[in-house]
Amino acid sequence: MTLMTLMTTGVGVDVAEAKENKAVLVLLDGIPADVLESVPTPHIDAISKAGGYSRAYVGGEAGGLSESPTISAVGYQTMLTGTWANKHNVWGNDIKEPNYDYWDIFRMVKTQNINLQTAIYSTWEDNRTKLLGDGLVEAGGKKVDYSFDGLEHETEQYPHDPASDYIRDIDAAVTTDAAQHLRTVGPTLSWLYLQYTDDIGHRFGDGGHMQKAVQKMDERVGEVWNAVQERSRESGENWLVVVTTDHGRDMETGKHHGGQSERERTIWIATNSQRLDESFFKNPAMVDILPSVIDHLNVSVPASVREQLDGQSFLSSP
Ligand SMILES: [Zn+2]
Repeated sequence: MTLMTLMTTGVGVDVAEAKENKAVLVLLDGIPADVLESVPTPHIDAISKAGGYSRAYVGGEAGGLSESPTISAVGYQTMLTGTWANKHNVWGNDIKEPNYDYWDIFRMVKTQNINLQTAIYSTWEDNRTKLLGDGLVEAGGKKVDYSFDGLEHETEQYPHDPASDYIRDIDAAVTTDAAQHLRTVGPTLSWLYLQYTDDIGHRFGDGGHMQKAVQKMDERVGEVWNAVQERSRESGENWLVVVTTDHGRDMETGKHHGGQSERERTIWIATNSQRLDESFFKNPAMVDILPSVIDHLNVSVPASVREQLDGQSFLSSP
């Protein structure tokens, strides 16, 4: 390599670092699209206004090989791996035997470059330990650099009450930590998971309680959105924010989910991306989120992994 080549390469690296691409996924549990759209959510609206909002679907191909229960952990793993349950093999919240041959997005990022920072902020610890299988050799080893989770096991600080106030409070603590970490460290890839709306949905179904819980979630999204905007302004980093949910709820009561009804299969995606192509507005699938984030982060995925993905990026060429 000549000196000139070295210098050119050096300049290229500096430029790339100055416009580093980063992404944060936000999953708010169990909010039907019709509920989200009927409640004032100024913060999610602000993200959508910067990019776009679309209804989307989960549950795989109804009646087909990839049909997947509209159950929480099934949905999370679908988002994390970009595949349906017939591949990732998570069929319920007990997460019996995930098939780690279908790589999660954290593994993809860490395989691209072990030095890229990752984080998870979560009201449910199993997301890291079981779904991502962080630290397990068969799941690709250690993939999460920073985690703030497990508070659901701190029963003295967060005594479990039937109204799920403890989940509301854990969501608050997780969000505060996420906002702080995003602002100060700004990992390349992170995932914020909040649970309260699902608990309220199961308890009360459709109505005022659920609407209030959704507004609470929107405030939490606002904390994170503010942090990302602040960091983005100060660092020049190019941030992608994707906010979504894991399933809808039954039409009759709004208390249940797991089946294949239209309302249970209907989710939504809000993102600040200014690269949305028309596929984003034509009923995208939850499996399209991973390819889009990978696309934004410029992560190259091994061909054997990529060809198993069930979705496609909804971003246009940069
Ligand atoms: Zn759920």
